[in-house]
Amino acid sequence: MKWIEKKMGLFTLRYSPYTLELKHVFTVASFSRKTSPVILVQLEMDGVVGLGEASMPPYLGESQETVIAFIEKIDLSSFSSPFQTEDIISYIDSIDQNNTAAKAAIDIALHDLMGKLLDMPLYKLWGYNPHHIPPTSFTIGIDTEEIIIQKVKEATNFKILKVKLGLHTDKMIVETIRKVTNKPLCADVNQGWKDPKEALEMAHYLSEKGVEFLEQPMPKEQIDDLAWLTQNSPIPIIADEGCQRLDDIAQLKGVYSGINIKLMKCTGLWEARKMIQLAQGLDMKIMLGCMTETSCAISAAAQIAPQVDWVDLDGALLIKNDPYIGMQVKEGLCYLPDAPGIGLQ
Ligand code: MG
Repeated sequence: MKWIEKKMGLFTLRYSPYTLELKHVFTVASFSRKTSPVILVQLEMDGVVGLGEASMPPYLGESQETVIAFIEKIDLSSFSSPFQTEDIISYIDSIDQNNTAAKAAIDIALHDLMGKLLDMPLYKLWGYNPHHIPPTSFTIGIDTEEIIIQKVKEATNFKILKVKLGLHTDKMIVETIRKVTNKPLCADVNQGWKDPKEALEMAHYLSEKGVEFLEQPMPKEQIDDLAWLTQNSPIPIIADEGCQRLDDIAQLKGVYSGINIKLMKCTGLWEARKMIQLAQGLDMKIMLGCMTETSCAISAAAQIAPQVDWVDLDGALLIKNDPYIGMQVKEGLCYLPDAPGIGLQ
């Protein structure tokens, strides 16, 4: 791996573009793909190296080029310690709008660095009980009957499956899965349905089929339709595309039952922890999700997983060339390494 280095006062920042190779072609309501671009990051101080990662699914507007351009603007030379976290995070956020994955890469590396300097895993530092992490779901993309059966069989150890819906094959997919397993399911429509009455009919159908909650059933712009669906649906309706950052949450109370937090959408752990507190205060459900990511970003997200209702951290299991070893999934349960920071080897 080739690292490009930037020295800034006490800190050295390095980055390296990396292409994740997926085990299967991945299809959701809006696109298909076989690889995913990321930027790996290192933030070093006093010989201690914090690791971070930006993952940029193409539909969210960031790319390796935009992340590198953002990193090139960063100058940490006025900071004397990574424990000036609040100031550093505010500075990073102020550099430019959007660029949430680029910001998350720095946030993750900064938190990993702090944990390593303190010689403590972040979840311990924050007092979270790792035994409270809900089982992670495993995602089944939109596919043919044959491939779906194969994927469900591969996922035999998982306690909950996440099924991608939103094309015209929804019922076929669910019926196919139900031929092979009675496990609980959750469903992600990725904004694929447009008609609220049809969405409600589907919510009832899915509820009868053992689907526990429904992620982003309609386009995020259809606020009134989503609020109506949430009021009438037998299962919780969760915002994913409809909720990016902390500022979005208050206005979503009543529109959705809960939110899906992802580090790449919300700029990292610092803001994700605030989002968890606000959503809990508003009595909203919390799901913790991911993009296609290495064990770096996944292990970072796993540090806060004891605080959420549902976990969807299968991103590193879908790739062939993970450069790190971190959070482990065994029998569908997440195991946090007892290692400093985000816990990568
Ligand atoms: Mg989603």
